[in-house]
Amino acid sequence: MLTKIYENPAVYRVDVPLPDNPLKNLNCYVVQDSGETLIIDTGFNRKECLDALLEGLAELDADWEKTNLFLTHLHADHTGLAPTLMKDKPGKMYMSRVDYAVLEGLMVGEVWKVSDANFIAEGFTQEQINILHSGNPARGFEPECFFDVEELEDGDVITVGKWKFQCILVPGHTPGQMILYQREEQLLFTADHILFDITPNITCWVGTADSLGNYLDSLVKTRDIPIRTALPAHRKNDMNVYERMDEIVEHHLKRLKETVDAIQQFPGSHATKIAACLRWSMRGKTWEEFPLSQRWFAVGETIAHLDYLVCRGYAERKVVDGKNAYWLTMDGALCKSKLDCIWKNSARNKGKTSEYRHWFIRKQIWLESLQYKGFQLLYFYGGYFHPDVLYAEKQIFCKTEGEKFFRHPSVLYAKMEKEIFFGERKHIYGYFETVTDRTGHQGFSGGKHRETAG
Ligand SMILES: [Zn+2]
Repeated sequence: MLTKIYENPAVYRVDVPLPDNPLKNLNCYVVQDSGETLIIDTGFNRKECLDALLEGLAELDADWEKTNLFLTHLHADHTGLAPTLMKDKPGKMYMSRVDYAVLEGLMVGEVWKVSDANFIAEGFTQEQINILHSGNPARGFEPECFFDVEELEDGDVITVGKWKFQCILVPGHTPGQMILYQREEQLLFTADHILFDITPNITCWVGTADSLGNYLDSLVKTRDIPIRTALPAHRKNDMNVYERMDEIVEHHLKRLKETVDAIQQFPGSHATKIAACLRWSMRGKTWEEFPLSQRWFAVGETIAHLDYLVCRGYAERKVVDGKNAYWLTMDGALCKSKLDCIWKNSARNKGKTSEYRHWFIRKQIWLESLQYKGFQLLYFYGGYFHPDVLYAEKQIFCKTEGEKFFRHPSVLYAKMEKEIFFGERKHIYGYFETVTDRTGHQGFSGGKHRETAG
């Protein structure tokens, strides 16, 4: 079924069913302008999906000489039909470099073996893994073969006729998911990064230390983008995208706290035992009655939450008798209050603009990660906040390792308009002008002022 959902640029939605899958459908979007066509995602490699996709595309009468395919991320419900659809066609297939490398590892490499070993270390049995190999939707309906793509980096631009779409890398749901943004229209194809009536699955990935941390950071990044229309890859969108992002953050915060409670209750447990203590929407079923494939997803999500705690030093992971085991490194209540401190609007930033709040959250996470890496705050050059103008501060972190002394070039700048810079930059070009607020407090001077950090 084909529906026109946006006028300028012309965007159509092909409703691709995903039979026997809790996601229910894939929204395949098709953008057209000046005879050019861009298809976004495909559905599983199965007949029901192919039929729906071809039927929808036939109605559009697209010129296959000028039709390209953009794959938001590596999951089979997005990439499954890519090589089938583009076979013998001259069009390009686009995908983020990061996800393409992971897809290669899954399709032609040894990544599944590593992943299976990881799940066994977290409490799955070999028999359960064998059953999963035959019935896991992530492993069925894959593309018929590995395929070539044009690899994309964060910030790359794809054009369709006169329209430009910016590729924004949002790691989390997969290590290299990409969303597409049309700036003038403030139109965002959110892929599986933001879904509305289901929560995107955040799981552990081979080679990724902290999927959940990456995901929450990506949400903060997305929060800074002006969005008028958000088009998700599954089901529908009937709420404000910013409120939805806040809801998703809340959801993970709640689950992190439940994870802390479960570790406190059963210290030394593996992820499967911890997962069984968490609340899942199982429609009245107990953990044991929950289908094995759903338990596999739940354990993956639990590992991502455990990784988040381990990466920040709130929990530790040890190997005991060949299985992973988790302990808290601090009292559970303290751990939960630290999580709150990062994610809730503390008294300090109440009443400030949302840009500031989100910058603040991002800053907290980043500072925590620096401290976790052993850096200590040496100097703090006072921050400056003016609700209409900007906020900036400079902090110098240092650490010693043996005889060596390291200084971390940490300069944190937020210009409240839109540009938010973060992290390590060798040369910082000032964006600031002297500002004096109502109380006479003098802000940064600068204009074209140039700084070298580090
Ligand atoms: Zn997905």
